[in-house]
Amino acid sequence: MTRTPGWSRAFNGEMPRHVDQDVHSAFVEFRAEQEDKCMSVQCIYCQQVRAKNTTRQKQHLLQCAGYLQAHPDVALQASAAADAAAAVAVASSASAGGPSDGSAYGPLPAPHGSHDDPASTADHTNLGFMPNPRINGTPAHGTPGVSRPSLGAPEGTPSAKRQKTKHAPNGGNLPEIPLRDVHAAFVEFRAKDDDKCMSARCKYCNQIRAKNTSRQREHLMVCAGYQHVLKDKIPANSLRHQFDDDDVASSLALPTPILDLDFRMSIRVKPKLNVGPGSFGKTWWVPCIGGQWAGRFGKGTLLPNGQDQQTVVKDLATHIEGTYLMQTNDESPAFITCKMKGWWTGEKDVMERLQDPVAADNVAAHRYLLRVNIELETGDERYADLNRGMWLASGCRRGAEIVYDAYRIG
Ligand SMILES: [Zn+2]
Ligand SMILES: [Zn+2]
Repeated sequence: MTRTPGWSRAFNGEMPRHVDQDVHSAFVEFRAEQEDKCMSVQCIYCQQVRAKNTTRQKQHLLQCAGYLQAHPDVALQASAAADAAAAVAVASSASAGGPSDGSAYGPLPAPHGSHDDPASTADHTNLGFMPNPRINGTPAHGTPGVSRPSLGAPEGTPSAKRQKTKHAPNGGNLPEIPLRDVHAAFVEFRAKDDDKCMSARCKYCNQIRAKNTSRQREHLMVCAGYQHVLKDKIPANSLRHQFDDDDVASSLALPTPILDLDFRMSIRVKPKLNVGPGSFGKTWWVPCIGGQWAGRFGKGTLLPNGQDQQTVVKDLATHIEGTYLMQTNDESPAFITCKMKGWWTGEKDVMERLQDPVAADNVAAHRYLLRVNIELETGDERYADLNRGMWLASGCRRGAEIVYDAYRIG
C-alpha cells in the first residue's frame, strides 16, 4: 500500500470530524417494508441501503466513494483511519481470538451483539466490510485495479470518474445472487433475547447486520470475502482464455442476450446470376421476385425489387448480403427496408449439393448454417420501434424460396 507521507500518523480512534457532521444529512431514513420493525437508511451518495445505525452509517461514509469524492479531506483521513483500525483489530483478534479479522473466509464462533449493539461494531470497523476497490472504486488502497495508469487514477487518489461508475452497490455489473446462495452465505441468530430483529452474520467476512434478504444480497455484492464466489459465477471467467485476474473486466458480469422469435420471412428468388470473380470470391446475384412475411409486429409482403449478393469463398462458404423491401398489410401500408448480412456455411459435400437447385431441396436445414443478422428501417411512426431492433435469423433454402426465422435480440 502506498500512502502519502503524513497520513499514516496515528489515528485517535474517533471518526473524522466531517463524518460526524455529515452523517445525518447523508442518509435518507425510511421503512423499507411496512412490516419492517427496523428503520432503513439510504446513502444519498451511493444509494446503498442499510439498517439505520449511526455508527455504521459513519463507517459507511468513510468507505463510500461518492461521499469521499465530495469530501476529499475526509477521504485522506479515512485512509489513515483504516490503517490504524486494522492494526488495532488484528491485535485484539490475536489476543482475544475474536471474530474481528475480516479476512477470514470460514465460519467463526457466533459473535455477540446485534446490529444495534455498539459492541458488535468492533466486528465491523473497516474490517469485516472491505469492499473490493476494483468493483466499487473505494479509494485509498493501492490495488492494481485502482492504480492502473490506463484508468487515469493515480495510486491512492480517489478518481472521481471511476468512483461514480463503479461504486453503485450492485452496479448491475455483478452476477445476480440467487436467494438460496444469499441464505447459505449467512448465519442467522438473535443477538439478544429481547431483540425484535434477527441478525445475520456473513460467513465470508463475519460482518453482522439485521436480517434482511435484499440487504444481505447487497452486502455480498461488496463483501471482499465473497468476491471469489462471485467471480466464479461470471461465465467469461470459465472460457479457455480469460482476462487477467486483476483486470477490472474480469469482475464484471454482463447480461446474456435473449433471442425472441419475431417474424418469419419467405423470399421468392429467380435463378442466381453469375457476376463473376469479385474481390474475395465468386459473386452471384440473386434477384428477389417477391415474398411475404408475418410475425409479432405485423404481416405483409416483400416487394419484387430486393436482391441478395452472394460471394462464394473457400470451401463454398457463402457470404450473403441482401436488401429487401417489406410492405405492411395496413390499409395505408408502411414500407420497411430489410438489410441482412451473414454466412451460409457447412461441410463441403453439403455445400456442393446446395449448388444444384434440385438436389438442394433435399438437404435438410440442420445440415448447414444459414445465419444472417438483420436490420429493419422505416420512417413510419407506427413501426418506429423496429429502427432500434437487431435480429438474428436462421435460414433454409427450398426450391426458389429462402425462408428465414428472425429472432429479435434482447
Ligand atoms: Zn454511500
Ligand atoms: Zn461479507
